[in-house]
Amino acid sequence: MKVSIVSIGNELLSGRTVDTNAAWLAAEMLALNTPVVSGYIVGDEVERIVRTLRAACEDADVVLVTGGLGPTEDDLTREALAALLGVQLVFHQDLLDRIAGFFTALGRTMAATNRRQAYLPAGAQALHNSVGTAPGIAAQREHRRIFAMPGVPSEMQRMFTDGIKPTLKALNAGQHIVVRKLQCCGTGESNIAQVVGPLMARGRNPLINSTASQGVVTMHIIATAPSEGEALGMARSDEQLLREMLGPAVFGVEDQTLAEVVGGMLAARGMTLATAESCTGGLLAKLITDVPGASRYFLQSWVTYSNQAKTALLGVPTALIAEHGAVSQQVAEAMALGARKAAAADYAIAITGIAGPDGGSSEKPLGLVYIALAANDRLYCRRCEFGQPRAAVRLRAATTALDILRQELAG
Ligand code: ATP
Ligand code: MG
Repeated sequence: MKVSIVSIGNELLSGRTVDTNAAWLAAEMLALNTPVVSGYIVGDEVERIVRTLRAACEDADVVLVTGGLGPTEDDLTREALAALLGVQLVFHQDLLDRIAGFFTALGRTMAATNRRQAYLPAGAQALHNSVGTAPGIAAQREHRRIFAMPGVPSEMQRMFTDGIKPTLKALNAGQHIVVRKLQCCGTGESNIAQVVGPLMARGRNPLINSTASQGVVTMHIIATAPSEGEALGMARSDEQLLREMLGPAVFGVEDQTLAEVVGGMLAARGMTLATAESCTGGLLAKLITDVPGASRYFLQSWVTYSNQAKTALLGVPTALIAEHGAVSQQVAEAMALGARKAAAADYAIAITGIAGPDGGSSEKPLGLVYIALAANDRLYCRRCEFGQPRAAVRLRAATTALDILRQELAG
């Protein structure tokens, strides 16, 4: 069973309202092990709505519609559904009585326009609205099911939960989806696609997708099968394949962060860490201490933004800065050695670079960052070019620093 979601309303197209209904419904569908294959936003115009509903019916077995069930002239879902089904709108006295009762209970008089809400396409069923006036609509087009709900999120959610979800559950017995996420670092999305190749083919089951954010690529393995056990087995076997193909690029699963993984490795070994940051201004320390329990392994951090601070706090020789510049391998290494010694830590990471947008040169371009790692018997430094903008340089630098330490700890 596949689902398509159609959100109706001009306010969604103008950006005045964000389409949270579709996001909420998509999460519900995931929980019901039902893939959402398409989503549409369409304005308040009958012809367009009809065309959109037709497209949604081509995509899926179940179409979930929200919005446009209100009492005003621009609420056109009823008309569009009738046109799609090729039937007339039929007046239902019992619906009008219920709508009128809703107003009476609030001590208000019903406006004449609310009469519109008592019409349904011939052959369709009303879905009870326990929170508002507009009844929902359940219709069938050939074997496809269409459910139209109000746009108001609280009304929509209630109607879905009480009146639609049980039907979908029954329709969908015997389909399970398992989603497994693999977190990767140190390689780009297109590189991964090249390595993984046909595993990421569209239409394959499990379906494998990737998303990238600030140097971390997340691989999503989505397995669909008649039983949960089978889906789990398929996802596991694809995870194994991906791990073999991607090797040390894989650092975690599900929602694990690099800082969490690195912290776990340090804690397991009883090792400690200190950091010294220039262009990242404490961002690395922030990421490390975002993880609860970081005090087990994280000792301290310096933000040495000026040359003077690098010398005074980390013992970086003035002459070294004068000769190579603050953004250099030599200074990054001296910062790491100084931090390791001053904090008496097992590991120290230092970052120095040009975050931009000013200060680049042909020799030292914007986004140039040196990341040094000092360990007991080892001093390592990596030269990175992260380009621009400033915020991305800083985040990529901090992320890469964590990845360097991860690779060191992993041996
Ligand atoms: P009602 O019967 O209550 O008038 P309706 O079906 O006519 O409902 P709309 O007039 O389209 O619904 O929208 C009512 C409210 O719900 C508006 O405030 C709108 O911003 C909000 N809304 C509509 N669609 C969505 C959506 N997809 N996501 C989030 N909010 C929405
Ligand atoms: Mg509307």
